[in-house]
Amino acid sequence: MRDFEAKRMKLAGGSPTVALNAKGIKMKEEGIDVLSFAAGEPDFDTPEAVKAAAIEAIRNNDTHYTTAAGTMALRRRIVRKLREENGIEATEDGIIVTPGAKLALYAAMLCFLEEGDECMVLTPAYPSYRSGILMAGASYVPVPLSFDDGFVVTRAMLEEKVTPRSKMLIVCNPCNPTGHVLSAQEVRDIADFVQAHDLLLISDEIYEKLIYDGRRHLSLAAIPEIRDRVITLNGLSKSAAMTGWRIGYSASSPALAKVMLKMQQNTVNCTAAFTQTASIAAFDCAAETEEMRLSYLERRNLICDGLNAIPGIECPRAEGAFYAFFRVNYKGMSAQELADFILEKAGILVVPGTGFGEGGEKCIRLSFAADRESLREAVRRLGELFAE
Ligand code: PMP
Repeated sequence: MRDFEAKRMKLAGGSPTVALNAKGIKMKEEGIDVLSFAAGEPDFDTPEAVKAAAIEAIRNNDTHYTTAAGTMALRRRIVRKLREENGIEATEDGIIVTPGAKLALYAAMLCFLEEGDECMVLTPAYPSYRSGILMAGASYVPVPLSFDDGFVVTRAMLEEKVTPRSKMLIVCNPCNPTGHVLSAQEVRDIADFVQAHDLLLISDEIYEKLIYDGRRHLSLAAIPEIRDRVITLNGLSKSAAMTGWRIGYSASSPALAKVMLKMQQNTVNCTAAFTQTASIAAFDCAAETEEMRLSYLERRNLICDGLNAIPGIECPRAEGAFYAFFRVNYKGMSAQELADFILEKAGILVVPGTGFGEGGEKCIRLSFAADRESLREAVRRLGELFAE
């Protein structure tokens, strides 16, 4: 038989985090003692009010197609949320509800990128950005940020990578995997940059609720001068522990949303009806979200303090999201060698920093959305491993 795989899928590759998570599950099933910190998955249950709303929605036969963009009730609630919490002036016809933010991301790539275009990505970055760009036929242009400078982005770094073919910039704020939260200066620099070069900006804000140490989340689309060129991505997976519900959304100008709507109409048709209805309740679960945030904060401190006490490990305190992104200086090992070594010798599954692209050399990502006992045990095992 010939090779049926399309070139775009060869280019895309699989997701390293999803693959590693599957490996951890398989090892556990085989009875292997493994502590898995590879997934980007909250370890809380979905709030009761959302579950009750979903059950009621099913009883009310809320089980049919909805309009492709999502129900008006949910889009209205999203518009209110964006205005009140993010300072974004969106309208219902700029919102598209998708089965997960990941699909909104993929739709944005396919709708606005094509062969010949370049898409810049601040790295280390969520691996699906690169895959999406390549699947759309465009070129991936990393803008590597530096561990030693706290992964801060400057206008000069962006200017260095821009070309006449640049069409889009993708920013993740707070950042998976580095935990970096953009400052007012960085936000201003990014805004000026995309405006100066007439670029589209994808702002992935899915971790916006998980921010620590008094920092504030700043939405790029709140800047009036650039609001029409920003596609904000968000969803309930992280803020309301709803990964399995598959609820995400994009917020943009109605003109951009009109293009993305064609994708939705021709692929999924719409996001599941009763999850949309139930999701409205999730926007009123601020107390539960805050409880989760405080719990992540406590675990961030636990893991960072523990890792920083180990010689050769530098673990900056994540400013947001729920990942420790730490650097290990051990026998000159690369990130991949370190991840393999840690799995083989300590039974700990983590993601090599280079899985997130340039800037992740010698780094490891460990999700601290895990139980305290496992986190303490991981610190103990890593302490032993790197003691020599
Ligand atoms: N963006 C980032 C940065 C993420 O980490 C994730 C989840 N791992 C997503 C988007 C996708 O989230 P979902 O599809 O569950 O809404």
